[in-house]
Amino acid sequence: MSKSLPALKSKNELTDTFSRTISYLRLSLTDRCNLRCIYCMPEDRDEGLKFLKHDDLLRYEELLRIVTLAVDMGMNKIRLTGGEPLVRRGVMDFISSLAELNGLEEIRLTTNGVLLEEKAAGLFAAGIRKLNISLDTMRPERFKTITGVDRFQQVWQGIETAEKMGFDIKLNVVAMKGFNDDEFADFARLALRKNYQVRFIEFMPVGKHSTWDKRYYISSTDLQKMLAKVGDMVPLPGCRMDGPAKVYAISGKDGTTGRVGFISPISHHFCDTCNRLRLTSSGMLRACLLHDREADLKAILRANGSDDDIRKIIKETILSKPKGHTLAEDMQSVDKAPCIGQMSRIGG
Ligand code: SAM
Ligand code: SF4
Repeated sequence: MSKSLPALKSKNELTDTFSRTISYLRLSLTDRCNLRCIYCMPEDRDEGLKFLKHDDLLRYEELLRIVTLAVDMGMNKIRLTGGEPLVRRGVMDFISSLAELNGLEEIRLTTNGVLLEEKAAGLFAAGIRKLNISLDTMRPERFKTITGVDRFQQVWQGIETAEKMGFDIKLNVVAMKGFNDDEFADFARLALRKNYQVRFIEFMPVGKHSTWDKRYYISSTDLQKMLAKVGDMVPLPGCRMDGPAKVYAISGKDGTTGRVGFISPISHHFCDTCNRLRLTSSGMLRACLLHDREADLKAILRANGSDDDIRKIIKETILSKPKGHTLAEDMQSVDKAPCIGQMSRIGG
């Protein structure tokens, strides 16, 4: 890494124009995936979808350089996502290198769980303790309909293996009317049986290939009403580490308890507390999932940019962070996804 000015650790450096402190960086390690979820990259889109060439992905040493500088500036939490982060070769060694960075308090991973059974031990050894696992159905045939691939048992096995190893597990369920709304109560019952926080995510119109349509959308408020038959829900005090989820304690009729969360980017957007930047798999730094403005960090790196050049882009991106998105308004006027950025490249 090139010689540079001493790192500025002032909180101000990470504060945007709306007084939000940006402490969390999400890295999309790859735009590739072993599933083809209908809301992200449906199977029949393989023709339209062009994956990045290997050279166009940020290399691990480039990623490590960026994260090191971001952590020096005061960022303290990283999430690895994608595409499917576990399909990228060398990911375990990369996580181990991240784990050695002073000042990085948490490394988390979002995965579809397909490779979890074989990789769980390695992830634990590399220092990961918290996993977000995406699972939209507990029915094998439906799993194939939603993801295009018959892998439910493999994913379930992965979740159970991770549970036994002691990972803190959150299950992400994208709520889609007509696809999995008849399973919301079963997912809430799962939260009563298991120590997983089950989080329902409002279906978002992201990516020009998405099958999003407002007829499939269901708000967290309506969803919550559907869970009333499972048990009483009491909101838990806000926890910074729960990110955008509003979390409730749920108590079943038989005395069991659990936690369910609701992520409501459309009905109750959380832009005023958003603390994140995103680095896409193509090396673009992005201030908001739902605004397509990006800064080309890869170009700076590959033109032998200095550490200060990289810090400057990080600061400028923070300062360019918009106040919020307008999905709710956009939905009134469009039937199809207004945000054309590809979810798997940006990193969900
Ligand atoms: N492949 C990994 C996985 O599926 O967990 C990580 C990447 S995925 C893009 C990250 C998260 O975004 C997943 O929980 C997925 O369910 C969610 N997601 C993808 N497309 C979405 C959409 N259109 N609306 C809401 N959530 C979406
Ligand atoms: Fe792959 Fe995750 Fe997108 Fe599904 S949501 S296609 S698992 S990247």
